[in-house]
Amino acid sequence: STHGSLETEKTFAIIKPDGLLGNYTDDIKRTIVEYGFRILKEKIVQLDEGTVKSFYAEHSSKSFFSSLIKYMTSGPVLIMVLEKDNAIADWRALMGPTDASKAKITHPHSIRAKCGLDMEKNCVHGSDSPKSAQREISFFFKELSAEFLLKLIVVFSK
Ligand code: ADP
Ligand code: MG
Repeated sequence: STHGSLETEKTFAIIKPDGLLGNYTDDIKRTIVEYGFRILKEKIVQLDEGTVKSFYAEHSSKSFFSSLIKYMTSGPVLIMVLEKDNAIADWRALMGPTDASKAKITHPHSIRAKCGLDMEKNCVHGSDSPKSAQREISFFFKELSAEFLLKLIVVFSK
């Protein structure tokens, strides 16, 4: 829709291996903060094949899948939870289109235009919907709920 969410929203972001290796991290994080996002959580991780396969499961039948796995495991990435009003759509807009080589022409100020290379090596990831934002955040930042902790206490106090 053309109307953004006025409610505070969380989205999931990755600075991919080319972004981290290319020293774009500080610039990207500065841009993120300038645009009004709060970085709630961040962590540098080295993804393994299994994690990438499961994270990108929706693309498992695509011809580029094995190449995508190679790319995403080629070096460490920075994973982040970002928060602001309309965070999901606004972060996608700030990233720019998937194909970084086209972004350089059509969206020259986008992060992918500045830091990415092509359709694959596009420097950053962002959730594409509230449903995927929720899935992706809990995929990487599993939190123990109060309910779960209480159950543990009950079990171990028996
Ligand atoms: P986005 O990251 O913009 O949501 P997709 O979800 O379609 O894009 O694809 C996930 C990732 O897979 C892309 O960011 C890119 O790294 C890679 N990718 C997508 N399409 C292609 C393609 N045709 N060839 C190579 N890699 C691709
Ligand atoms: Mg996507």
